[in-house]
Amino acid sequence: MIREAVIVGAGLGSRLKDMTKDRPKGFLELDGSYLVEMSIKKLLEHGIERIIIGTGYCSEWYEKLAKKYPAIETVHNANYAGTGSMGTLEVCAAKVTSDILLLESDLIYDSVALFTLLNDHHRNVVLGSGATNSGDEVYIAVDENIEVAAISKKLEMVGKSYAELVGISKLSYKTLQAMCSFAASHHQDMPKMEYETALVGAQKMGEHLFVRKVNYLAWREIDDASHLEMATKEILPRIQENESIRQVRREVLLNPGPATTTDSVKYAQVCADICPREEEFGQMMRWICDELTLFIGKKEDYETVLFAGSGTLADEVMVSSCVPQDGKLLIINNGSYGQRLAKIASVYKMDYEVYESSTYEAIDLDALGKKLDEGSYTHLAAVYHETTTGLLNPIPQIGRMCHDRGIVTIIDTVSAFSAIPIDMERDCIDFMASTSNKCIQGMAGVCFVFCNRKELEKLKGEPMRNYYMNLYDQYQYFSKTLQTRFTPPVQILNALRQAIIETKQETIEARYTRYTACWNILVDVVKELGLEMLVKEEEQSHLITAILEPQDGKYSFEEFHDLAREQSFTIYPGKLGNINTFRIANIGDIQPHEMEQFAQFMREYFRK
Ligand code: PLP
Ligand code: MG
Ligand code: MG
Repeated sequence: MIREAVIVGAGLGSRLKDMTKDRPKGFLELDGSYLVEMSIKKLLEHGIERIIIGTGYCSEWYEKLAKKYPAIETVHNANYAGTGSMGTLEVCAAKVTSDILLLESDLIYDSVALFTLLNDHHRNVVLGSGATNSGDEVYIAVDENIEVAAISKKLEMVGKSYAELVGISKLSYKTLQAMCSFAASHHQDMPKMEYETALVGAQKMGEHLFVRKVNYLAWREIDDASHLEMATKEILPRIQENESIRQVRREVLLNPGPATTTDSVKYAQVCADICPREEEFGQMMRWICDELTLFIGKKEDYETVLFAGSGTLADEVMVSSCVPQDGKLLIINNGSYGQRLAKIASVYKMDYEVYESSTYEAIDLDALGKKLDEGSYTHLAAVYHETTTGLLNPIPQIGRMCHDRGIVTIIDTVSAFSAIPIDMERDCIDFMASTSNKCIQGMAGVCFVFCNRKELEKLKGEPMRNYYMNLYDQYQYFSKTLQTRFTPPVQILNALRQAIIETKQETIEARYTRYTACWNILVDVVKELGLEMLVKEEEQSHLITAILEPQDGKYSFEEFHDLAREQSFTIYPGKLGNINTFRIANIGDIQPHEMEQFAQFMREYFRK
């Protein structure tokens, strides 16, 4: 699996004259976007976690871009005017930790280029295309194994051209090191070496370098004004058409999860088969756990444990594993999911009590405080966001009240995590559960328990109430072996990895702002239509809204649902005893303009 990319972007771009007077080539604009930024988005969509950019000329442009993309790390080649692309790659190589994709900064390309290289079974692959007639061709000749025989701009130097060099390659860590040592031995006689020369140099040192040709690849390198014109008029429209053909039919899920996902998350499931017992897969799961942890706290103090299963499984893991035999649990119930926590405790015949609170009004914290003082509770379980109603419980306050009394907190954050910013230490949460298919925007099938490490370690030696769902056993086994005890859902984990990359890019704070923008659009239309919401606005989560069904005899949820579905919107019935509601969730990869479209649909339906 390739996780890192290097972009060499230090050059002057002198052939572009005035167009690069104030900026590097990567910042030429095409259809309103910077070349290099289009490339960065494609890399992120293809599972690249870390993008190292070698800068030189006008490096401040890249510094600015790095602020927008947390995955970018820049490295400056101070001697960019005195070196070639290999000099910049040498500076970048010091930061590289694994196999890479290597790209030039002045390219536009169909993302199938990345898919092709990432899927090629060779470790070192140079991407080639058919004839471009661009006037600046770099030819590649190959031997009988389709390994590079020669690379040159001069056709007579390569003999017979097999393909044109695109400027995107996949390289092993070892080959990159060989390129660097080749370059280092020629600093005197070839100070302006291009990376292509070092590629061939590394090959002479024994590295195998294959060529993968995609005959009709839509791509262009932009080195002069004529390339820019070709790129705008001819290539970009082809790329846009190809990429739109590959888009998955859009369904906007306004049900409270599984939530709408990006196409890149969907496509992340289409990957080479792998045995999950391979070290490579174990490392990926380790990365997933660590990155999930970093969303809620420090790795030293918190640990994330993965399970195959849905959100309820993570709830059952927590309730059944985190309360010792002599512990006493208080469960707050103010909706279906609080009730579910109580049901789990009852099935295991645990020592527990239920604290009942209104399903649509805020919890009375004074009364809860008294209750906590009365019983000798060791643990408290509650739901952060009651998805039944959209009521947001004041977990940070409740957490504080518990910690002040030495009570361990177990929180269901199934529909809150990755939307509402949570800091487990600040919010006094010891264990919390969530799942892959809600606000983290992955596929259904994986759930996780975030654990306060100190509290987790205290569970060592506790008798197990169950086997498959035991938290400590799963944690212990994974820590030792980098494997889960039982078969993990491989493709769902790949998709979760992609969802994490995209969450890091968006950030949880910005995601909550986007969700809130969508919620505001919904609330506006609800008020405009004279509909009523179950929960007071200020106590709502901004993630899901329960709306009272109109008393009009003509209203039918089925009809409303079916008409919405025809327009690719999925809505959800309410779920609360004798109060009839329908629910609109606005989590997942939903954009405000889509919520506007749904608001318009609601206007038309309810006015009719
Ligand atoms: N807890 C909460 C707060 C939820 O919203 C949900 C699902 O919507 C669950 C638990 C159960 O999750 P699952 O259906 O994935 O088991
Ligand atoms: Mg060129
Ligand atoms: Mg170039």
